[in-house]
Amino acid sequence: MKPRIILILGDQLSPDIRALREADKARDILLMAEVADEASYVPHHPKKIAFLFAAMRKFAVKLESDGWQVRYSKLDDSENSRSIPGEILRACDEAKAEEVLATEPGEFRLIEALEEMPIPVHIFPDDRFLCSHAEFEDWAADRKELRMEWFYREMRRKTGLLMDGETPEGGKWNYDHENRKPPPGSVDAAPMQFTPDETVEEVLALVKSRFDNNFGTLDGFWFATDTGQARRALSHFIKCALPKFGDFQDAMMVGERFLYHSVISMYLNAGLLGWREICDAAEDAYKTGHAPLNAVEGFIRQIIGWREYMRGIYFREGPDYTRRNILNHQRKLPGFYWDADTRMTCLNEAITQTRDEAYAHHIQRLMVTGNFALLAGVDPYEVHEWYLAVYADAYEWVEAPNVIGMSQFADGGIVGSKPYVSGGNYINKMSDYCKDCAYDVKVKTGEGACPFNYLYWAFLDRHKDRFGKNPRMAQMYRTWMRMSDEKRADTLQSAEEFLDRLSAGDRV
Ligand SMILES: Cc1cc2nc3c(=O)[nH]c(=O)nc-3n(C[C@H](O)[C@H](O)[C@H](O)COP(=O)(O)OP(=O)(O)OC[C@H]3O[C@@H](n4cnc5c(N)ncnc54)[C@H](O)[C@@H]3O)c2cc1C
Ligand code: SF4
Repeated sequence: MKPRIILILGDQLSPDIRALREADKARDILLMAEVADEASYVPHHPKKIAFLFAAMRKFAVKLESDGWQVRYSKLDDSENSRSIPGEILRACDEAKAEEVLATEPGEFRLIEALEEMPIPVHIFPDDRFLCSHAEFEDWAADRKELRMEWFYREMRRKTGLLMDGETPEGGKWNYDHENRKPPPGSVDAAPMQFTPDETVEEVLALVKSRFDNNFGTLDGFWFATDTGQARRALSHFIKCALPKFGDFQDAMMVGERFLYHSVISMYLNAGLLGWREICDAAEDAYKTGHAPLNAVEGFIRQIIGWREYMRGIYFREGPDYTRRNILNHQRKLPGFYWDADTRMTCLNEAITQTRDEAYAHHIQRLMVTGNFALLAGVDPYEVHEWYLAVYADAYEWVEAPNVIGMSQFADGGIVGSKPYVSGGNYINKMSDYCKDCAYDVKVKTGEGACPFNYLYWAFLDRHKDRFGKNPRMAQMYRTWMRMSDEKRADTLQSAEEFLDRLSAGDRV
């Protein structure tokens, strides 16, 4: 029998990945490839590229030691064709293979590329997720609104996580209202870090030579790059940070880049960890009294709720999702997203740590960089490309619904029932950023005022036809309309002047 080529992509580094389960050790050849097209279709953060290449190389060695025949293309191999389809054709040619098995990629771009191959490619569902496409479709069909909370309850029932029979543990499904504490005085946890080994060092040198001009610092690389390390990072999080994860989930602090977050999304999304082992470990921490319910419920909700829901939305909405722009926002992404050169401390902190770590936590992504882009009317496609490039955990299936849907409201309200926008007050309440900012969060208009303040009202005013009748926003519109004409005019003028300065490329 002729061998078949089994494609394993860079975010499919799980020993039980579907295409591998379909494969025959005695017959088939596994194909793994570092290719320039994947590494550069957006200018990925060098730490993201290094993480994936190092994890791929180690996974390939593990597969070989398990008895598989692996054909691995390194980025600097002279014959490397630069693309996944090109490498598939090369591998087929060499092995005289006429068939390819693959697990569904997490981006329509790659799915389409595989479907257009001149040889048969069998694409199997990626069943590393809790909810299949068909199951999500069943849940979504005939619903007027696809609210995550209802989906999440289904997933709790399905998994039995934090369930007492049919009843949610503690009597409530969601303990989010306990999870909004302002920043603590100090943080007594940090993610586990790993010293680069020989494989990682080799990859770091390669990435430095090829991607040094991309946004992002390669120095100080500390990510886990195999499942053993990722499991140690998970245990460390459960032990040291999970107990306070809930309390400070939404908090932000100058210089504190991780607070009590798990920093495991890149491991989970690449396949080094699975959702079940993560959630079981968190649930055990609750059952043994190590972590409180608000922390564990909040954490599990992110994984079996938000993460699965976002994937469902991406595949349901289809390839044009990233081009949605219901608010018709056209502004170019401000230059400071690429160099952090801004006087706004909140944005400077979020972007600086993104440059250094390829990481920012959820509230920084949503209520700082996302909030500003939405208030300033930035083209959501440009915002999407930025997020896809700069975070180590970014793949379109999870990034796009978070950006296009949740953060930019560009999908018209499929993910969120109202836009996530706020003035400076929210940032001030949840962080210590405003204390040393060049702008004054208490001042509403004029040169020294916090830009989030007037941009917020200008956004509401600009979109009053769309949001004015939204019951969840009625209170804000009433406040806006109760302001004097003069105050409203001042606010709109401050916003216009600021946006003009932004357009002119002034440092803001
Ligand atoms: C604008 C924007 C863009 C985002 N882009 C991505 C992305 O490209 N990739 C990505 O994995 N997450 C993305 N998220 C979700 C979230 O910010 C990250 O998953 C989280 O910050 C990762 O850090 P952590 O592992 O410390 O997470 P924790 O705060 O410790 O949460 C635990 C886990 O829950 C999951 N999770 C939490 N929130 C979400 C969510 N909204 N969607 C999906 N999974 C979630 C992640 O797997 C995460 O590891 C984005 C959020 C926003 C608002
Ligand atoms: S004052 Fe405004 S711009 Fe400055 S840190 Fe606070 S919210 Fe950000």
